[in-house]
Amino acid sequence: MDKEKSKEELLKEKLFYKKKNGFKDSAEGYREAVMSYAEGYKKFLDSAKTEREAVKQGIKMATEAGFTEYKLGDKIVAGGKYYLNNRDKSLYIFVAGTNSLENGIKICAAHIDSPRLDMKQHPLYESENMAYLKTHYYGGIRKYQWVTIPLALHGVVSRADGERIEVVIGEDEGDPVFCITDLLPHLAQEQSQKTLANAFSGEGLNLLIGSEPYGELDEAVKLNMLKILNEKYGITESDFISAELSAVPAIKARDLGLDRSFVAGYGHDDRVCAYPAITAILENKDSKDTIMCVLADKEEIGSEGVSGMQCDLIVDLMEELCKCLGGNFNVVKASSSCLSADVNAGYDPMYPEVFEKRNSSLMNCGVVMSKYTGARGKSSTSDASAEYVGKIRRMFDENGVIWQTAELGKVDIGGGGTVAMYIANHNIDTVDLGVPVLSMHAPMEIIAKNDLYEAHKAFSTFCKN
Ligand code: MN
Ligand code: MN
Repeated sequence: MDKEKSKEELLKEKLFYKKKNGFKDSAEGYREAVMSYAEGYKKFLDSAKTEREAVKQGIKMATEAGFTEYKLGDKIVAGGKYYLNNRDKSLYIFVAGTNSLENGIKICAAHIDSPRLDMKQHPLYESENMAYLKTHYYGGIRKYQWVTIPLALHGVVSRADGERIEVVIGEDEGDPVFCITDLLPHLAQEQSQKTLANAFSGEGLNLLIGSEPYGELDEAVKLNMLKILNEKYGITESDFISAELSAVPAIKARDLGLDRSFVAGYGHDDRVCAYPAITAILENKDSKDTIMCVLADKEEIGSEGVSGMQCDLIVDLMEELCKCLGGNFNVVKASSSCLSADVNAGYDPMYPEVFEKRNSSLMNCGVVMSKYTGARGKSSTSDASAEYVGKIRRMFDENGVIWQTAELGKVDIGGGGTVAMYIANHNIDTVDLGVPVLSMHAPMEIIAKNDLYEAHKAFSTFCKN
């Protein structure tokens, strides 16, 4: 008895050791592989700051790997490699396998939208000879983090004449940037007494965009801004109504740390899972089973709408696969499985009070599996079954994936959701798997390169097994 107990103790110690020292005993060449994978990721991050840009990059990567465009209703042949572009906002990359579809489809689903500041429909105004754009924040932001940082403007404008104009200002070295101002400390005594939640208001997040007047007219600065936009993009003030313009941090992804072990950048949530989900499907493009990478929009605001994960498109596509390749639709759904690829809150030693360490994800300790997410009493989670978690866990262990499990913070503190439940609702086994992030939803988030690389390994292993 005693002997067995001590063996179990040893196992526990080993697991704890692994958690504390995730990558100490990694194989030769591992660090090089991690570093080189992160280089590709940083480029992706810089070129995909909005969901539309991420879709574009996803299509580029898929096309280079031999995938071709599929539109609903097109013929799908076994062995074919396709992508479905949903309104330039969400993307489905899939391999139609030669094996029976009733074996199930393996799905990796990440989201490609990130918190940001969207422009309102009537955004442009002038105050005291300065021109501003009014914003409406998108997703869960901490407002104080978005002032006094350089911001770039990204998006599209659907002009009155029907032209669609793409806008990116603030990313090239020579580009101007934009900013939301804040009080100087000398005059901030009253503001400093307010709570963080109350000190900054949504209506106060107005983007400073210029100050030079055009002539002697009324609102000459506003007019000058319109003149510049018209000269560059041919747009007029009313075109803002049919536009999607967002202010995002005008920063590039950078290595962080003397050892370059971290990447600091905007939008790791959830491109740090989207990128590995793409590279995993490309690596398995000759899969005999049908595999799918979903890049969804609108996760940050509840996965609603035509580009969100609650849209029927995923099951419509599965139905089309059944029509073309054969298979009972309901059986195919029931035998399919999914990794909901989303980030987790990395344990931050600066804020130990909000974490329960035993059940938190640690940086550099591998990809994180979350059996359930939700808030407080597991509200709004699909809670993966013990059997499904067991299956994934064995798969990872057999294939050398370094992984850990975690919840998002202490039980009563808060919580969060992912797309997992929306996929599970279709009768598809789903569990959350992703990368731990520090400063999640901040303009500059931090991830560890080791964890990013393990995410790729995890998704690729899932596609293979
Ligand atoms: Mn996310
Ligand atoms: Mn998020």
